[in-house]
Amino acid sequence: MSNKKAIIIGSGIAGLASAIRLSGQNFSVEVYETNSYPGGKLAEIHKEGYRFDCGPSLFTMPQFLEELFAISKKSISNYFEYSKKEIVCNYFYEDGTRFTALADIKKFAEEAEKKFEVERDQIFKYFKSSKQKYDLTSTLFLEKSLHKLSTYLSLDTIKAIIRINSLGIDKKLHSYNDEIFKDARLVQFFDRFATYNGSSPYVTPGIMSMIPHLEQYYGTFFPKGGMYSITKALYQLAVDLDVKFHFESEVDQIVVTNKKATAVVVDGFIREADVIISNMDVVPTYRKLLPNEQAPKKTLKQPRSSSALIFYWGIKKEFPELDLHNIFFSKDYKKEFEYIFEKKEVSNDPTVYINITAKNEPNDSPEGSENWFVMINVPSNEGQDWKEIIQRSRKNILDKLSKLLKVNIEELIEIEEILDPISIESKTQSYQGALYGSSSNNKYAAFLRHPNFSKNIKNLYFCGGSVHPGGGIPLCLLSGKIVSELIEKDFND
Ligand code: FAD
Repeated sequence: MSNKKAIIIGSGIAGLASAIRLSGQNFSVEVYETNSYPGGKLAEIHKEGYRFDCGPSLFTMPQFLEELFAISKKSISNYFEYSKKEIVCNYFYEDGTRFTALADIKKFAEEAEKKFEVERDQIFKYFKSSKQKYDLTSTLFLEKSLHKLSTYLSLDTIKAIIRINSLGIDKKLHSYNDEIFKDARLVQFFDRFATYNGSSPYVTPGIMSMIPHLEQYYGTFFPKGGMYSITKALYQLAVDLDVKFHFESEVDQIVVTNKKATAVVVDGFIREADVIISNMDVVPTYRKLLPNEQAPKKTLKQPRSSSALIFYWGIKKEFPELDLHNIFFSKDYKKEFEYIFEKKEVSNDPTVYINITAKNEPNDSPEGSENWFVMINVPSNEGQDWKEIIQRSRKNILDKLSKLLKVNIEELIEIEEILDPISIESKTQSYQGALYGSSSNNKYAAFLRHPNFSKNIKNLYFCGGSVHPGGGIPLCLLSGKIVSELIEKDFND
C-alpha cells in the first residue's frame, strides 16, 4: 500500500490516463467525477435501439493508448480491440465530386490524381514534408512540458528551433496549401485539418500541415464497440489497478495552504492528498475551484477553439454510398470560417460531418436503419441565440443532405437528440463549450496554453484538452503522460 495519495478532478480521457500512470508510480489514486459515468466528452447515448458515440469519432495514434496497458503490465486484448480503417473518409463536394480518402498512400494519390488536378508526386511530396514537420517538432511540442527549462536543453529542441523557419510558422495553413495545389477542392481537403484542433485554416499557421501525416502515416482506426469502448477500457484498467472512482461527486474547491495544494472539497467534506490533478477545464478550475488564488490572466484570456452542434438521428434507411466517416463540404470554406471565428455565428452553408458507427457495429441501430451522428463546426458559446441557430442549421443541413443524397432525409428521422455548445459546457465544464480548449489560431498558441503544473501552487497539476499539449484524444493521453513524469520528478527530487 502506498503512502502517497493523488486526487484527480474529472474522469475525462486525460484524467483516466493520469490515474493509470500514477497508480503505476505507487500512488493511491482517487478520482472525483461530477457525472454518473466516466469519459467526459468521450461518452455515449442509448435511445430506442440506437447507440451513438457522443463526441469524438476519429481514433488516431492508438500507440498512446497501447502504452497505458503496456506500462500496467496488462494485455490490451483483454480490454480493447481495434482495427485499421481502409477508407479514412468519404468526401462530397457541392459540385458533385466524390473523393474517397484511402489509407494506403499510393491508392490515395492515385485516387487524388483521378479526381483532382494534381499529379501523384505532388501528393507524396506534401506528405513527406508533413512527416518532416511532425518528426522535428513532436518531441518538443507534444511530448514534453514547454514550460520547464530542461526541455530547452535537449538536442531535439535545439534542432527544432534552428529549423523553425522551415516549419511554415509565418504562413497561414490555407496560403501554404494554396501555393502548393492549384485545384481548390484539394486545397479545401488539406485546409480541413485545421479543424482537428478547432482552428481556422485561414488563421492557423502552416505548421498545422503536419496533421495529415498523423492520419495518413499512422492510420485511422475503429474501436470494436465504438469510440466509447476507449473510455470503458481505460476505466476498467484503472479499476483493476485499484483506482477509486467517486461518481456524482463534484469538486467545489481546491484547498491551498501556504502556496501548496493540500485537499479538495467535495459535498462539504475535505479530502486530503499529496497531489491534486485537475482534469477540469483550466478556466473554471481557476474561476470556480481557486477563486482566491492569482490566475494566469493572459492564458485564460486566449480565444477558445470552435465548438460543435450535433444532431444524433436514428435514420430509417440504409445508405450503401456512405461509410463510417463522411464529409459534405461547404461551397465557400472561407466564409464558413469567417462566420465561426470572426462573426461568432454559423453560416447557412456549413460543412456537414456524418459518422455512422452502424456500418461497423450492426447492433448500434435497429435492422434496416442507421445511427447518424451529424455535426457542424460552430463558434464557442458567447451568448448567441442557439435556439435560432439550431433551428436554422437543422433546416440547412437537411436541405443540403436531401439534395446531395437525393432523398428527403427529414422523413427518415425516427429519433433525435441534440448537443450544442451550452450542453457541452453543462455536461463537461468545458468553458464556452469549446471542443479543444483554446484555439491554435496564433503561432504562439502552443506556448500560451496553460502548463501541466501550477507555477504558484505546489503539488497542483493539470491535464486534459484545455492545457498543454492541447485537445483531442492523443494529446489528452500525452498530457497524462507529461503530468505523471513531472510528478515523478518532483517527488523524487
Ligand atoms: P473532458 O472530456 O473535457 O472531461 C472532463 C471531465 O471532468 C468531465 O467528465 C467532467 O464532468 C469532469 N469535471 C469537470 N469539473 C469537475 C469537477 N469540479 N468535479 C468533478 N468532475 C469534474 N477528439 C479526437 O481525438 N477525435 C475526434 O474526432 C474528436 N471529435 C470531437 C467531437 C466532439 C463533438 C467533441 C465534444 C469532442 C471531440 N474531440 C475529438 C475532442 C475530445 O473529445 C477531447 O479533446 C477529449 O475527450 C477531452 O478530454 P479531457 O481529458 O480534456 O476531459
